[in-house]
Amino acid sequence: MRRVTREVMSNMNWIILALLAVTMTAAAQQPASAPQNPQPVAATQPGQTAAQPSAAPSGQAQSAQSQSPQAQASLAPPTTMDQVVDRVIARENDLIKFLSPRTPIVETYLQNLTQDPQLGPIPQDDHYFLGRMDLSDSIDRSDYLQEKVKGEGEGMEKRLLGGLTKRFKFQYQPLGFSWMIFADRNNFDRQHYNFHYARREFLGDVRCLVFDLTPKKDAGRGRFLGRIWIEDQDFSIVRLNGTYARPSRNNYYYHMDSWRLNLIPGYWVPAYIYSEEGDFTAGAKNKIAFKAQTRMWGYNLKTGTANDELTQIRVDSVKDETPSAQDASPLAAEREWQQQAEDNVLERLERAGLLAPEGDVDKILQTVVNNIEITNNIELPRPVRTRVLTTSPLETFSVGNTIVVSRGLIDVLPDEGSLAMVLSHELAHIVLGHNLGSQYAFNDRMLFSDEATYQNLGFKHIPEEEAAADKKAVEMLKASPYAQKLDSAGLFIKALQKRAPQLSALLQAHLGNNITENGTVTRMAQLANSAPALDWNKLDQIAALPLGGRVKLNPWDDRVEIVKAQPVAMSHTVATTKTKCRCGPELGRGPVRVR
Ligand SMILES: [Zn+2]
Repeated sequence: MRRVTREVMSNMNWIILALLAVTMTAAAQQPASAPQNPQPVAATQPGQTAAQPSAAPSGQAQSAQSQSPQAQASLAPPTTMDQVVDRVIARENDLIKFLSPRTPIVETYLQNLTQDPQLGPIPQDDHYFLGRMDLSDSIDRSDYLQEKVKGEGEGMEKRLLGGLTKRFKFQYQPLGFSWMIFADRNNFDRQHYNFHYARREFLGDVRCLVFDLTPKKDAGRGRFLGRIWIEDQDFSIVRLNGTYARPSRNNYYYHMDSWRLNLIPGYWVPAYIYSEEGDFTAGAKNKIAFKAQTRMWGYNLKTGTANDELTQIRVDSVKDETPSAQDASPLAAEREWQQQAEDNVLERLERAGLLAPEGDVDKILQTVVNNIEITNNIELPRPVRTRVLTTSPLETFSVGNTIVVSRGLIDVLPDEGSLAMVLSHELAHIVLGHNLGSQYAFNDRMLFSDEATYQNLGFKHIPEEEAAADKKAVEMLKASPYAQKLDSAGLFIKALQKRAPQLSALLQAHLGNNITENGTVTRMAQLANSAPALDWNKLDQIAALPLGGRVKLNPWDDRVEIVKAQPVAMSHTVATTKTKCRCGPELGRGPVRVR
């Protein structure tokens, strides 16, 4: 346990100026490198590139389209630039086909920016979208959140290829942010595009060929215009950067930087898209300025039908008729019943792509919980577990004896002490017996579509329980190893307090209680009293980390892990525009090939 604690400390002991602003340089935000893939991987040919033609026979690239990636890997390398382009087109269409039965989750978090004379661009307000993408036929999506964008139907959204509509005062179309997972879903070919080889470049450790793509004259509206990076072994697209050409009078396409990860052998899967518009330089005419992060995950989620779910539940209920369940004492039976509720909820959330599978981050969280429990002599009939919600909004809740913390919250917490603050509140609910939630032991309550999760599950407490949990949590913290380490937790509360009115979407909890109510921090607010004064200009003050820097979410299997992010001064994170690719080894988080 001690080892894990040290790990927590070193992972979280970063000094950074606190703004809670989304750090959104392409470099800082592009998803971290792919994990080492445990699967055996096929040997590949040494990278041959068109820039250095080999003597391999020509004329094979055209047949690549119909072949599996494994088969393709054994193809002779292309010898001309034309053959490279053919291979790229074939690989891209192969990927489109491969992903077409899948419905990944897509999340967009957006901050509108305003210019602060001292601090530069700061958040003005924010928006949050969460949905499932249907990649089967065109790109479509359904939403987890009920609020629909006013005045626009899905049809309109699709027709505009997800652009911004001027007519509706620059309302954001959620679909638009995920549009650039492909350059062109339907017509990625030579009939619609000119391919110009630009140069070679490394993205992280991956050797790439860079091409500029321009739509042909008569290719029509909404065609990709920009640059693509192709890895030089299988010729898959690794990154796309650009916009869409020829907007009509009523719409407007924003600029995107779209990154893929080699999460399974042979395929580079769309993982992260950074979008940005507007600037504050003198004479800039843009009326809008925003930055947005879009993440995709849950590619490997089962697309179970209601019938499948029903079958599973019947099997479950048969299992419950075991003699041991019937022989249990009333107390044991009640515990078992609560355990069942807890397990049902966790399993359902995981199946909806909202909960990461159990993993190493849970061990870190559990260590912090253990530290609080041991020093407070807390003994519970069942051990407290922790899990990570895959989403960005800052929230926590507990179900039964399991504490759930969102990826976004773990991302921005400045240190272990503030993690202890967050966990202690939920631990207090458990200790005080607030988390019955046993209605979820009835399996029929788990029968809903993934998109309806937020309407069917909820773990909110009444204000009295919230206040009681805060009180108990402060008590426990004071007796814990974190007693003297709560300054940054207090600063975090202060920073939240300062920014809460502008970050309502980030602070909107979807399953648990809000940390703020009406723009005021309510959760653990007492800790702010003993914290030092908040000073945005103080470089050594820890208040919050940028969103998206610490927790790495694997888009294929939803696993999360904590990465060692580099401390980044705020002046760099907000002001930096993507003048060059900084995804390289210096950040240690560039694309990494699994095969
Ligand atoms: Zn609470």
